[in-house]
Amino acid sequence: MVKVVKFGGSSLASAEQFEKVGNIIRADKARKYVVPSAPGKRNSKDTKVTDMLYACYALAEEGKEFRVPLMKIKDRYDSIINGLQLKLSLDEEFKVIAENFKAKAGSDYAASRGEYLNGIIMANYLGYTFIDSAEVIFFDEDGNFDAETTNKVLSAKLAECETAVVPGFYGANPDGSVRTFSRGGSDITGSIVAKACHASMYENWTDVSGCLVADPRIIDNPEPIKVITYRELRELSYMGASVLHEDAVFPVRKAGIPINIRNTNDPEADGTLIVESTCQKPDFTITGIAGKRGFVAVSIDKDMMNSEVGFCRKALQAFEENGISIEHMPSGIDTMTVFVHQEEFEGKEQQVISSLRRLTNPDVIDLEADLGLIAVVGRGMKSTRGTAGRIFSALAHANINVRMIDQGSSELNIIIGVSNDDFEEAIKAIYDIFVETRL
Ligand code: ASP
Repeated sequence: MVKVVKFGGSSLASAEQFEKVGNIIRADKARKYVVPSAPGKRNSKDTKVTDMLYACYALAEEGKEFRVPLMKIKDRYDSIINGLQLKLSLDEEFKVIAENFKAKAGSDYAASRGEYLNGIIMANYLGYTFIDSAEVIFFDEDGNFDAETTNKVLSAKLAECETAVVPGFYGANPDGSVRTFSRGGSDITGSIVAKACHASMYENWTDVSGCLVADPRIIDNPEPIKVITYRELRELSYMGASVLHEDAVFPVRKAGIPINIRNTNDPEADGTLIVESTCQKPDFTITGIAGKRGFVAVSIDKDMMNSEVGFCRKALQAFEENGISIEHMPSGIDTMTVFVHQEEFEGKEQQVISSLRRLTNPDVIDLEADLGLIAVVGRGMKSTRGTAGRIFSALAHANINVRMIDQGSSELNIIIGVSNDDFEEAIKAIYDIFVETRL
């Protein structure tokens, strides 16, 4: 059995955190391939090494003095090396980095050094082989991840190594220069490595005990989610719950490998298991609640709208023409409402109204701003009677006016529109009825 273990920046921010990680890896022989992030924040006022590297390289690019900030970055690594009492020096590595900064090797190269150096330390600490990701992870001419070449080269390389460390976040362009994924991209590397070695599990270690049923900034100590499907996770992430880089799901999902989100600071906790499909019922009928504020509802009324062929297409064209993306579209007999992001819409509202007038000739166009959308997500809702009833009676008891209801045809979620001001209270009421009182 092989497990790929990815550790986030806060899990590797200091020598103490490295020791916790070492204990976790040594506790299970299956944890053969390790993907580290760059050192993250040690406390809330600290700076992530990745951000230090971007800032330092910006100085180099402007031809300004960058050696002092670069030495500050070296200090971060040296304090980890010394704390772990390793016989390792990064002096030569930093000489090369300084030269490459001077030669303007690019901000992707600069940022990637965060995980590259942490990978060297990790490999030395564990006695694992170090694999430079620039030699095994590839991007194509257009800058897109090249899954096929990567899988071929990486699989062959991993097959040669009993145990290895593959730094997260970067790979190489066809010309050999370094390219990074978007921020948080070490999650993607972990997933790619898991696919390449046919892992039985991709463990993603972070500083929370997995996904939570609701946002901890709104609910005190929300319950963790034990098992969640990829589709449920997508719904919740789309609505703002973030645990994992979105693109990290694809490689492992395609290969049928589950992801286990775990907490480095609480290794006994089971965390959250993310799977393709499961017979296990969620603990609370619903799997999770997430939401976002700041939407505008654009309502378009026109008598006999429903019998006018092509009406919806024309209405949507008005948004497309103005580059506005659409969030939800509940409709009635002679009315349709389009939910859009307020920030995106505000500057263009008059253009959209005029496009709508020209294209659809409506009776009335009405705008309502400052709305929040809440998604109640759960694979269990399909087979449970009365879920919607419970949601709406909880909201009514909390005196919350529901402005919109949209149940996805997959019956995986119910989306509820409320005023921005009622947003938090609505989430509390829904959490309370399903989780606290378990009705
Ligand atoms: N270190 C990179 C970042 O801060 C990548 C990662 O941590 O996943 O975005």
